[in-house]
Amino acid sequence: MDQALFDLVYQAVARRDACYDGIYYTGVRTTGIVCRPSCRARTPRPDNVTFYPSLEAALQAGFRPCKRCRPDEGGPLRPDAALAAQADAVISAGYGERLTLNDLAGRLRVSPSHLHRVYKEVTGLTPAARLDRVRLDHACALLRLGRMSVSDIGGTVGFRSASHFAAWFHRHTGASPTEYRERVGGGMADEPEDNIPAYP
Ligand SMILES: [Zn+2]
Repeated sequence: MDQALFDLVYQAVARRDACYDGIYYTGVRTTGIVCRPSCRARTPRPDNVTFYPSLEAALQAGFRPCKRCRPDEGGPLRPDAALAAQADAVISAGYGERLTLNDLAGRLRVSPSHLHRVYKEVTGLTPAARLDRVRLDHACALLRLGRMSVSDIGGTVGFRSASHFAAWFHRHTGASPTEYRERVGGGMADEPEDNIPAYP
C-alpha cells in the first residue's frame, strides 16, 4: 500500500468512517488486534497501523479480531453500517412518498428507536434529517430548473399540501420556494431575462 492510499484509509479510521469497512482491515501492532476501519475504539497512531486487504490476511499475520467492532461477524459491513446503508437506499427510493420513521423501520424490520439510534451513530444525522436533506436537494434542483409549479415540486418530494411544503421549505432555507426560485433566477446575471423559464 502506498503512502497516499495509507493516508486516505487512515483518515477514515480517524473519522470512524465506514467507507473502507469490508475493503481494508486495521491491524494495530501495539495491541495485536484487528479492527474494521470504523471501529469506535481509540484511534491508533499511524505508525502502529498496518492495513490488510482481508480479515484472513490480518489473522494470518497474528492479529486477533476486536471484541468491539467484531470484524469476524456480520459480513464485510459492520451490522449497523449495513442498516444505515439500507435506510439510505429506502430514503433515496421513497423520498417522494410519505415516509415516517415508523414506515422506514417497518420496511427494514427493526424497531424505530433502534433505527434512530444506529443511524445517528453511523451517519451523525437522524433518519428524519437525512430525509429532509434528500428532499431539499431535489426541491432546490427542481426550483432552479424552473419548469414545474411550486405545488408540483412539493408533491414530487413527498408533500401533499403546497402550504405544508412551503412552510417546511422556509424552515430549512429561510426562504419560501417562490423567493428561492426568484433569488436563484436573479443570480443568473449573464442570462437574458427571457431565457429564464416561466412558470408552467
Ligand atoms: Zn475494533
